[in-house]
Amino acid sequence: MHNKIDELIRELTLEEKASLCSGKDFWNTQDIKRLGIPSIMMTDGPHGVRKQEGNFDHLGLNKSVPSTCFPTAAGVACSWNEELIAEMGAAIGEECQAEDVSILLGPGANIKRSPLCGRNFEYYSEDPYLSGKMASSFIKGVQSQGVGTSLKHFAANNQEYRRMSINAVVDERTLREIYLASFEEAVIEAEPWTVMSAYNRLNGEFCAQNKILLTDILKEEWGFEGAVISDWGGAIERDADLEAGLEIEMPSSGGRGEAKIIEAVKSGWLPEEMLDQAVRRILKLVFKAAENKKAGVVYDPEKHHELARKAARESMVLLKNEDHMLPLKPGTTLAVIGGFAKQARYQGAGSSFIQTTKLDVIYDELKKLAGDNANLLYADGYAMNHDEIDEAMIHEAVKQAKQAEVAVIFAGLPARYESEGFDRKHLKLPANHQAVIEAVSKVQTNTIVVLSNGSPVEMPWLNQVKAVLEGYLGGQATGGAVADLLFGVVSPSGKLAETFPRKLAHNPSYLNFPGDEHEVHYKEGIFVGYRHYDTRDVKPLFPFGYGLSYTTFEYSQLQVDQRRIKDHEMLNVSVSVKNTGPIAGKEIVQLYVRDTESTVIRPEKELKGFRKLFLLPGEAQTVTFQLDKRSFAYYNVQLKDWHVETGTFEILIAKSSREMVLRESIEVESTVPLPKIITRDSTFGDLMEHPAGAEVVKSMLAASAPSEEGDGTKMLGMNVNEVMKATHLRTAVAMSNGVFTEEALASILQAVNSAN
Ligand code: BGC
Repeated sequence: MHNKIDELIRELTLEEKASLCSGKDFWNTQDIKRLGIPSIMMTDGPHGVRKQEGNFDHLGLNKSVPSTCFPTAAGVACSWNEELIAEMGAAIGEECQAEDVSILLGPGANIKRSPLCGRNFEYYSEDPYLSGKMASSFIKGVQSQGVGTSLKHFAANNQEYRRMSINAVVDERTLREIYLASFEEAVIEAEPWTVMSAYNRLNGEFCAQNKILLTDILKEEWGFEGAVISDWGGAIERDADLEAGLEIEMPSSGGRGEAKIIEAVKSGWLPEEMLDQAVRRILKLVFKAAENKKAGVVYDPEKHHELARKAARESMVLLKNEDHMLPLKPGTTLAVIGGFAKQARYQGAGSSFIQTTKLDVIYDELKKLAGDNANLLYADGYAMNHDEIDEAMIHEAVKQAKQAEVAVIFAGLPARYESEGFDRKHLKLPANHQAVIEAVSKVQTNTIVVLSNGSPVEMPWLNQVKAVLEGYLGGQATGGAVADLLFGVVSPSGKLAETFPRKLAHNPSYLNFPGDEHEVHYKEGIFVGYRHYDTRDVKPLFPFGYGLSYTTFEYSQLQVDQRRIKDHEMLNVSVSVKNTGPIAGKEIVQLYVRDTESTVIRPEKELKGFRKLFLLPGEAQTVTFQLDKRSFAYYNVQLKDWHVETGTFEILIAKSSREMVLRESIEVESTVPLPKIITRDSTFGDLMEHPAGAEVVKSMLAASAPSEEGDGTKMLGMNVNEVMKATHLRTAVAMSNGVFTEEALASILQAVNSAN
């Protein structure tokens, strides 16, 4: 392969090489027929295949071929089920093969900084560890079918407001620990064939033109071997983008991009070797895709629909279940209320919008499981196309609810509330959805709310209802999945991959989202999601990692295989989990690590492991986690590396970020001392803490005359006490009246710093 590529690069003209660096049209890469270089097709993603055969667009406006619509990322992340996501990815990969698509544009590994981001439904989590694992599983699944993925949108694309130009200002540690970590895991673990650069700027530089991101970090540090593609229309200056590490501009710019590259090479500004490097990556990609193409693939849409149902069941989260309201008993008279029951909201709007192969109607699916004697009443409750409260509709809903034993209200966010392209302004449900919940729950004590939305909503009516099932955007089989969960065909097993705040103002990005027309400052730093709520002890409506089940689980026998490790050593942690309830169910075991004491500010705890277990009634299983250096580390900007401070760490086994069930302590010893540089601006305190500095201070003290006043030691006319410790070295020179000279200071700095 390498020889063939080298040979091709020698044969390609400058013009041909430049042409390979831009798309041929909206979805295909450029081919060069005379040399047998094929064109490959890319298509959105991520929760199904949006292959367009007619008019093209990147906003989900025009038609695409039918494909299975799986639950969106916000939902599947709540499954915390890596195998399931890989299985879903493999099914999507198979559909790509059947449609001759070589690269699926997804998954999206952007972090949910604010619940308002209009595109949160397409992203996994507020936590980089969980998000990275979900993205990895998805990539592995799709790529197992010989189809590539495009991990997007790299990086810090956490809002839709002015997404094409906004400058995200993020400090280095935050970038590494939160926003890049989610991509890092997926790049290193799953090796996506391509990475898509984000539209926005990061710390002043467009991501498409950001050498630090695309070359230094992605390729050199993480070892990414694929090609970087621009987001659609997101290339900036084609020659400078290429130099920064962006191989393919998408879609075609009608020859403008390649002309720039040719000009840059001819003028000597861009070394041709650099273009060759890009072409090498592009050729590797297109030949890999061509070699992996499978002819005649036909997938079974029914089988994929069933998989979509399974994925949706595991993605939904039971948030409340008072008096064991759920599961419903067959034969119950149900008032089904809300237009969403007949016209479900099941996917997000924008470039990921796909045409389904089939679509469940929630009402029909409920009817199938409700039992022969069941009576299902129905009322629309609210208008689908606007927010105004319609008293006649409310009246009808109340009437039906009164006649039933249980009312199930289907509510949530219509597509006009959340979409790619714009952000939400608040967390409220539409007024008419809220009004129907309030009116019905007044007359029917057994009220259940099922929500369809891509991101958290406020629930001022929570205390008035008995149960809440968060359905997210459950894909084309959402109907069957909701029915399965409400009637207890399976027990709910999803847990939130994001915090639901009590109110918007509690979110850490509040006041700094979405920024002004030019910049958004990530002032909350690393305190995103539960890192903020838990550290500042702000009580959320529902915490990260939270979700109920119809059965119960007991945790015991937390064991660590060592009490004391060095930072480069592995630690094995095991815990036993038992299903103590009457039915089979799945439990998500969560492991968090807490640094009990630190010289740098750290979150109260961080997720460092999880596992989903299926347990029959009475069954117990032992889960083992392996923790490594990264599990205990923070990103040290001075070292430009991950660093562990010597000290005590707690291993926490939890049911959610707010419910710890077991804990153990271990000692971790750092093997990498932090270099401490003493400068003129350092204090005597800094000098005394420095391993070599302590000696220097001691000899200075010995050399100085004893004090006449009090019992303090006198040096350079000053008492060595707390005030002295806080004195800057340069001030001491200025104030010592010539006793402590510049030369003396320079030689101290030289002696101390060379001892590092
Ligand atoms: C989106 C990408 C998408 C591309 C192609 C862009 O607007 O940001 O996620 O893959 O369009 O449709």
